[in-house]
Amino acid sequence: MRRLSLPLLVIAIISLACCSIACSKKGKSSKGGGTGSGTTGPNGTGTGTGSGTGTGDPGNAKAKDLVWGVQPDAPSSWLEATANQIRTEFATGVWKSTEGQMYLRTQVLKNNVDRGSLWSNPQLYEADFDVVFTNLDSYFITGSNTINACSRPTSRGWLMGLPGKVPFDLFLHEFCHGEFKKLPEEYSCDVCAMSDVVWDRPAPLNRYCDNADCELPGTAAAGCWENFILKRYPNWTHTRRDPGNHPTCTVEIQQ
Ligand SMILES: [Zn+2]
Ligand SMILES: [Zn+2]
Repeated sequence: MRRLSLPLLVIAIISLACCSIACSKKGKSSKGGGTGSGTTGPNGTGTGTGSGTGTGDPGNAKAKDLVWGVQPDAPSSWLEATANQIRTEFATGVWKSTEGQMYLRTQVLKNNVDRGSLWSNPQLYEADFDVVFTNLDSYFITGSNTINACSRPTSRGWLMGLPGKVPFDLFLHEFCHGEFKKLPEEYSCDVCAMSDVVWDRPAPLNRYCDNADCELPGTAAAGCWENFILKRYPNWTHTRRDPGNHPTCTVEIQQ
């Protein structure tokens, strides 16, 4: 029974944790602006340069050192742009959304790691990677243009599949599925990065909802902070503080 039930469980988790395109707004994704001018917070040290070098003090925040694989052989321009997006948008998102209690520290971006279809055989990647990019020219990880990203639990923690073009809060959405083990979707909670993708959102939605502002109270998905994040990290606090500029995040590109 156990042997038979495991694949079914995995399939169920995949389908629950995938983000389908249910967005109501159309148009091109507007890229985020990187760190820009950081608000000086308790741990911040002033303004960011926008170059991807954060200046915030990590203090005792939990560091995430992730390995990012690129399934096809990507041009160096894509690798550079994506490394910059990780150093700026994604690093800002993790830092801000966790209120300075987690940050992206040392990242490795490995090019040309094709082991077969990410969608059909994610287990081929899960031992070595935390994130895998596929379909570099697309906003979708499947050819049918219905799934734009996915997270699933693995022995490393989680595996995230991303397309080559990533709207700026899509990463945080999948990050919550993986890191905070939040499986229920809440596409219509518009104050939260767990809401559906809005391609032309004017600024990153670098936060998760709580019981005070969740727009889906009483549902299984309600209250990201109290019901998921603080259950995963019971020693964290949730005060809605702005932690200021994110700490330095480095990305090493491996060709
Ligand atoms: Zn939420
Ligand atoms: Zn919510």
